[in-house]
Amino acid sequence: MKWRDRKAGELRKEHVGERLALAGWAARRRDHGGLVFIDLRDESGLAQLVINPERAPEAAKVAHEVRNEFVIRAEGEVAARAPEAVNPSLPTGEVELQVDELEIVSRSEPLPFQFDEEHVDEGLRLRYRYLDLRRARMQRNLRLSAKVVAAIRRYMDEHGFVDVWTPNFTRATPEGARDFLVPVRLQPGRFFALPQSPQLFKQTLMVAGLGRYYQIAVCFRDEDLRADRQFEFRQLDLELSFPTREDVWETLEGVVCASFEALGREPPARPFQRLAWHEAMARYGNDKPDLRFGLELHDLTAETRGSEFKVFSQASSVQYLAVPQELSRAELASLEELAKEWGGKGLAYLVFDEEGEVRSPIAKFLAGEVIEAVRPEQPAATVLFAADEPLLVARVLSAVRNHLGRELGLIDETRDEFLWVSDFPLFERDEETGSWTFSHHPFTGVRPGDEDLLETEPGSALSQAYDLVWNGWELGSGSIRIHDAEIQRRVFRVMGISDEEAEERFGFLLEVLRMGAPPHGGFAMGVERFVALLAGELNIREVVAFPKTASGSEPMTGAPTPIPEEILRELGIEVLPQPE
Ligand code: ASP
Repeated sequence: MKWRDRKAGELRKEHVGERLALAGWAARRRDHGGLVFIDLRDESGLAQLVINPERAPEAAKVAHEVRNEFVIRAEGEVAARAPEAVNPSLPTGEVELQVDELEIVSRSEPLPFQFDEEHVDEGLRLRYRYLDLRRARMQRNLRLSAKVVAAIRRYMDEHGFVDVWTPNFTRATPEGARDFLVPVRLQPGRFFALPQSPQLFKQTLMVAGLGRYYQIAVCFRDEDLRADRQFEFRQLDLELSFPTREDVWETLEGVVCASFEALGREPPARPFQRLAWHEAMARYGNDKPDLRFGLELHDLTAETRGSEFKVFSQASSVQYLAVPQELSRAELASLEELAKEWGGKGLAYLVFDEEGEVRSPIAKFLAGEVIEAVRPEQPAATVLFAADEPLLVARVLSAVRNHLGRELGLIDETRDEFLWVSDFPLFERDEETGSWTFSHHPFTGVRPGDEDLLETEPGSALSQAYDLVWNGWELGSGSIRIHDAEIQRRVFRVMGISDEEAEERFGFLLEVLRMGAPPHGGFAMGVERFVALLAGELNIREVVAFPKTASGSEPMTGAPTPIPEEILRELGIEVLPQPE
């Protein structure tokens, strides 16, 4: 017996008169005084079954037993619907199956949520993920994801990139997160680290003469989960030998456009925009600015040096945003809260009314020239100031800018803005220890000409790193790498890694770089982030089949779980009692 002759969503007028079988889930059952209608759903869509007790008394009995999400099989004849029963919103809406035989193949317990419910609790959705995945939104997202991954692979293959699998049991690969560790039974007390990225392997593959490498690589990072972060995620990971950064950018732009095309969408204009990091920070306060709206930052540091207003004159940076409307007291108070959440002390403001009159508790402390310098062209406007360390000012005003962009509807949702940000500082201060640490990863190339700054002024050295940003989301990052062992050592030293420690942790890399290493560079793009944005989803959990919750659990299988004592003993592991 064949389970089905066609898929439900394929039925069309031209099939009228055909006898066939369909199989799938009962999406909905309606009883209409004798006649029973069932929407049968499979992976292709829905078809309407009609069970008429006069035509098929046995099937009618079975139909009464059918509940939502039972698996059923129906045999019958495709018939045209009466004109008044045509459903134009359904591709199969002109026809229905007049059922002769109906079988319940598999029953379902009562559902924990209804499929057409809009706001099902996420915990419940993840606990019953297989039911959630049956729903239209998740079906669409998983299929879209598969299409994008297929398009990426096609593009990479066509452009000479070799897909190489690299190990998941390896040594620490520093990308700024904690490692997930794997104990080794045969060598108790020793651990593999799961890769935060295949960074060192892909560099090694360039030294191995591969020329062009790519992989859809799974990466593991132990860090707090957020809307755009999971413990494990996939990257389109790639590396080229003898590249300029333009070669890398061109590859990524090609991948992005191929993905749009695979989804039948107009690809974004190429080349993508470019901004140097310092310019992105100066204009948007952010290294991943959303360029779909303006509301740029302005600097007022020089103008406020001699100000009576100490909050301004004593701050190392004073910047402002000119908002094109009068904000109410309540709005200002909530923006001030937002500024504090981002580490600011507050948010000073000047409100200019329709007549151009200024309303503000700080106006009396500001010189007339300063007020005139910030007065927006149009009346009815609000100027918001932050005064503090430059990076903090940037962080606060950028958060306010993004918030206002959304709240005031300044974002042009019809636009797609792709952007390359480059020329990042090579190092940044570790917030906890105050020492220099990498801003991307320790293998990022130094901007040619900045090598001498490594010892004298590391904070001023720029890197050869670049990020790809789409509508304010960082899609990924990459760089031209260090291919000289001596420079690599010097970079380690700036970060407080002694030559001995470098040898111990990265000796193999230093050796690789001494064995004929070609200049090389690459990139990694977060696949789930990219897919989520393509799907119009704000949370990557919506495009991951079985994601972890924000607290790092997987509710369907119940992982993670405790492990029996004897297994731990075999691994040489003892679990310390957990504080309450
Ligand atoms: N390994 C880097 C990352 O995972 C990407 C790269 O530099 O190619 O972010």
